[in-house]
Amino acid sequence: MSILKDVTKAIESSNGNGQLKSRVSALVSGAEITEIFGSNVFNDRVMKERLPKDTYKALKKTMEQGAPLTLEVANVVANAMKDWAIEKGATHYTHWFQPLTGKTAEKHDSFISPTTDGGVVMEFSGKQLAQGEPDASSFPSGGLRATFEARGYTAWDCTSPAFLKEDSAGNVTLCIPTAFCSYTGEALDKKVPLLRSMEAVSKQAMRVLKGLGNKTATRVTATVGPEQEYFLIDKGYFDRRIDLIMAGRTLFGAPSPKGQEMEDQYFGAIKDRISSFMKDLDIELWKMGVLSKTKHNEVAPAQYEMAPIFSTTNIAADHNQLVMETMQKVALRHGLVCLLHEKPFGGVNGSGKHNNWSLATDDGFNLLEPGSTPHENEQFLIFVAALLTAVDRHADMLRAGIATPGNDLRLGANEAPPAIVSMFMGEELTEILQNIAKGKKTVARGQKFLHIGIDTMPPLPKDNTDRNRTSPFAFTGNKFEFRMVGASASISGVNVILNTIVAETLDEIATRLEKAKDKHKEAAAILKAAVIKHSRVIYNGNNYTDEWVREANRRGLPNIRSTVEALAAMATPQAEKLFSKYKVLSKGELHSRYEIYLEHYAKTINIEAMAAIDMVRKLYIPAVVEFTGQLAQTVASLEEVSASSEIQKSLLDSVSSLLEAASEKLHALEVATKKAQDIKEAKAKAEAYRDRVFVAMGELRSEIDALEGLMPRSLWPVPTYADMLFNL
Ligand code: ADP
Ligand code: MG
Repeated sequence: MSILKDVTKAIESSNGNGQLKSRVSALVSGAEITEIFGSNVFNDRVMKERLPKDTYKALKKTMEQGAPLTLEVANVVANAMKDWAIEKGATHYTHWFQPLTGKTAEKHDSFISPTTDGGVVMEFSGKQLAQGEPDASSFPSGGLRATFEARGYTAWDCTSPAFLKEDSAGNVTLCIPTAFCSYTGEALDKKVPLLRSMEAVSKQAMRVLKGLGNKTATRVTATVGPEQEYFLIDKGYFDRRIDLIMAGRTLFGAPSPKGQEMEDQYFGAIKDRISSFMKDLDIELWKMGVLSKTKHNEVAPAQYEMAPIFSTTNIAADHNQLVMETMQKVALRHGLVCLLHEKPFGGVNGSGKHNNWSLATDDGFNLLEPGSTPHENEQFLIFVAALLTAVDRHADMLRAGIATPGNDLRLGANEAPPAIVSMFMGEELTEILQNIAKGKKTVARGQKFLHIGIDTMPPLPKDNTDRNRTSPFAFTGNKFEFRMVGASASISGVNVILNTIVAETLDEIATRLEKAKDKHKEAAAILKAAVIKHSRVIYNGNNYTDEWVREANRRGLPNIRSTVEALAAMATPQAEKLFSKYKVLSKGELHSRYEIYLEHYAKTINIEAMAAIDMVRKLYIPAVVEFTGQLAQTVASLEEVSASSEIQKSLLDSVSSLLEAASEKLHALEVATKKAQDIKEAKAKAEAYRDRVFVAMGELRSEIDALEGLMPRSLWPVPTYADMLFNL
């Protein structure tokens, strides 16, 4: 471990110029990775080593089968955890949770406990491990918990391992992943519903498997691999952009002469400075047990991506939060800032998060992997049918699940999936599904198909190589990839929805199978009905075209453009029924989320508007006034000597009229913002921000961006797009 300490120290003391970094990084190549990986995780290996056998067994039973955790077991585990953490330099512990802000929260408590002789001992009890009582009054609750009743409870989620977080000041904190709920047991966080939804989909998937005659599986887990896109810019530029600091995105900025049109960034050679950041990021993530696997340049300049190896949904969600947090922390060490906003720069690609999703059995089968036997393929097609049905039936809910103000700027732009939810199945699978609907046999086309040899089940595509990058919900061979999620979002919300809507359709399928005499005939009938009813949601073409927008409209698929509209799907009686039926969210819990997200929309646009007003008043207008003053002086001096001043005059005219327009637009934005601020009712308020404030901001931006085009570089008060995107 000494190497690790040296490396960390060296990284921390480096000045961010990247040079030291590459030397340091070289130290931890190859074999050391196996030593580093999980070194800060209280994982199975550590538990086996440090827990008495019976405690280990009892804890595993809780983790795997949900058996209740006794205080006795918790005490022993807590003590072992504390010793382990202290040996690794920890002084504090925290219940680490995920309130409805979409971020994580932590309150640090030291292990100290006073002794009678005036000293302290380091203590950590089972009770402290299992439960915490943070003051909850400052977290959003959407009316679930009156502020006077501030008590919230955090409870250990022992299915996600405890880990150590290190910061550059040398603090080491033991983090206990927890769920967060109110005194009355209502979920105040993103994790509780996620765990409930995993339970729901597992239960219904098991019923289907049993219905189809599967005798080996006992549990089904939803698996997720979230690919994370992000931007990096130099901190020097970031510090001079109030919009980036306040809103996470640029509210102004004329396009850079070069954008992404050369297509030379995607998968391009990674620059040293970035590569050194990526290596440090990997090391930090590996230490915490995050299976960081892939890194590459993304489409836009200064845009990158990392992808982990997939894991159980709740661990994937925890880890994705750590990924986002660690990216931001490590970037600072390199003199960089990591931007996770969905659209930090107008006119170039935004950032998303591809949520790769599947279902796995505890005996090692991926239920969305076409199998090698007729029986496995029947199973596969039934699960595909369940997804097809769920996505078509609840497209509006999925859309609501990814609705954020940042994502509004990304979806439907010519780079991200449009706001229409459709599914890509690939040519072969689509043909198979269509033939099922028509009652026709699929003729195998050479090597591409698996021959499965019975009449009721068609041959299946062996390798789905056709990758449709424009589809919002794509079958990629052995999993579905939901690509509409925004880069800054927690992945919990969307997986809660996915798990629950699939649980519902699996429930319906299971009920039919359980009643049927001939299971295989029934399975074939279920498939046929599902395909006939829900194929309209399948689209294998280019989702970025206007033709698709028209076609989708003809098919009756919803095309929901804004967050405010999209969120409405969370407030319908169908949504209430669905989430309460599967015990994922009660009516109150669901409604609280609707309220919180609407409020979040209004607050976000308000911050953007205030930042825009501030920048225009204090930076742009003064700079333009200075320039017009200089021009006027030049004109006057030229006229004094009877020299020609036509060009200077015409420039002065153009700049002055833009300044006048900008000033008018500024006033309009101020008026619109004030009006929106005064509206009380949440929906009307959010609508005012969308229809008035957001629009006024856009109008103000065009004037300022036009001015940027005319003003000398030396007088422009903020870094330009060219500076930020190309100077790394
Ligand atoms: P891409 O070409 O989209 O980058 P990859 O094969 O690299 O595709 O996979 C992307 C993500 O999908 C990775 O995080 C990977 O771990 C994840 N993934 C692979 N199999 C599954 C699965 N069965 N369930 C969930 N995620 C998966
Ligand atoms: Mg992908």
